[in-house]
Amino acid sequence: MPLTQDKKLVGGADLSRIAGLLNLSSTEEKLLEKDERQTTIDLRTKLDEKTVILADAYLVYHNTARGPAKGGIRLASNVTMDETRDLAERMTWKTALTKIPFGGGKSAIRVDPRTLSTFTKKLVIRRFVHEIRWELTSGSYIPAPDLGSGPPEMAAIYGELHMPECVTGKPPRVGGLPGREEATGYGVSVATIYALEKLRNKDAKESTIAVQGFGNVGSWTCNFLSESGSRIVAVADADGGVFNSDGLNIKDLHKHVDEKGTAKDFSGKAITNEELLALDVDVLIPAAVENVINRETAPRVRAKIVVEGANGPTTAEGDTILRNGGSVVVPDILANSGGVIASYVEWRSGKSGSITPRQEVYNTLRETIEDAFHRVTETSDRLDLSYRDAAMVLAVDEVVKAMHDRGWV
Ligand code: NAD
Repeated sequence: MPLTQDKKLVGGADLSRIAGLLNLSSTEEKLLEKDERQTTIDLRTKLDEKTVILADAYLVYHNTARGPAKGGIRLASNVTMDETRDLAERMTWKTALTKIPFGGGKSAIRVDPRTLSTFTKKLVIRRFVHEIRWELTSGSYIPAPDLGSGPPEMAAIYGELHMPECVTGKPPRVGGLPGREEATGYGVSVATIYALEKLRNKDAKESTIAVQGFGNVGSWTCNFLSESGSRIVAVADADGGVFNSDGLNIKDLHKHVDEKGTAKDFSGKAITNEELLALDVDVLIPAAVENVINRETAPRVRAKIVVEGANGPTTAEGDTILRNGGSVVVPDILANSGGVIASYVEWRSGKSGSITPRQEVYNTLRETIEDAFHRVTETSDRLDLSYRDAAMVLAVDEVVKAMHDRGWV
């Protein structure tokens, strides 16, 4: 993927423009711009008499007017405070748009998870829990998996605290939720089908789809969309991709990826990530990394619907080019909100001790995302805005009203 000099959509959109549309006061705007809290921790994990892992760790509360700070723990060798705060801000908008009673937070540990054994990774996580024990036990920050962390690490957090509502994304046998693993991909598929039917008057069965990324989000999105009858004609991951105009057999692709660790060399025509982004399909779903649709790649995008499975896959310039070219973008804060919606159901079950069946999780995801999408299209039509701006207008308005309810402004 080309490196881009494009402007990043900080926190998902141009906040000052949204503040202008909503006529916000300068105090309201300032409160939204700034994080409530940024904590940097010098994390020291002693492994044995001679070895100590030293790593910076970050915890950000962007805005908690609507509820506790909710957001995953990212483990990555190059993660920064800036990236952590950007993701925390996206959580503020995501939870507000979908009306989930959480605020925006995020945490990160600057280690390469691939260099850590499962055991060592859990030690690092336990040390992090030790450092932020108050935030976790008071319920002011509720972590979940993010890149580099998953259900085993969430089980380790639960093991330290013995409070099921302190963390979401736990394995189902340890207080986790059936359906949490696939929730984001399910949500992306719901948003895609809604966009096809309501915006293009097209049945999923008649649609062609290209998906970048075959990790958690991309692979589950492919599963659900192919079950709905869509033709997934191309998939690519970090190593390259594959195209088949008749549609890829997703079950066989899973087997291939399990064996080879990549979608590359699966039966079909080999394609690059750049070629995938430029395919003539109904829907393009970037579900891997950020900034891939930018000033270099956006002019070649031919899909009339782009559904952002990943966080921040489109730069500011890329967004403008897509819009001018007539493509509709379903923004990340709507399209990939399934994970946090399921996290909310898990948190609620943990608090009440109730069991939530998988079908109920799917129903909640579908109803919540369709409701949010409906409000976004209505706002977009009424104010003549892109879906990204309309989603932000709704989310920012919700947070500002909550700040007033709380007496912050
Ligand atoms: P993952 O690690 O499970 O999968 C990432 C996939 O992207 C892999 O297939 C990898 O090969 C591919 N990839 C990596 N670099 C690439 C590149 N340069 N070009 C093309 N493909 C590349 O991650 P995930 O959990 O599926 O998350 C993907 C995105 O979705 C991230 O932006 C994440 O923040 C976002 N997201 C995830 C969730 C969730 O519940 N997992 C929720 C909301 C948003």
